[in-house]
Amino acid sequence: MPDGRRGRGFQPATAMPPPEAVGVMLASGALFPIGGRQVVVYARTGTGESACAVCQRPIGRSDIEYDVARGEDEPVACHLHCFTVWRAESLARPLQPS
Ligand SMILES: [Zn+2]
Repeated sequence: MPDGRRGRGFQPATAMPPPEAVGVMLASGALFPIGGRQVVVYARTGTGESACAVCQRPIGRSDIEYDVARGEDEPVACHLHCFTVWRAESLARPLQPS
């Protein structure tokens, strides 16, 4: 049996999350909006132990992991491509003061 792939049950992490799904998460508060508020983003190589906050898939060691922190909150990990959609959806939505 060929054993060319690393890991078990590896899922390709290149699938972009549907923007409407990200929009729903923003609306429900599952994700905070990026852009208007004080958000700090760190990019690093995935540890293989974090799950993406956007698509819920594991962030592999060959992926770029973005850690997104807002204010004093714990950073939220996500894929680079998920961050792109997250940010785009955040900017596309009007900021709602809470
Ligand atoms: Zn993701």
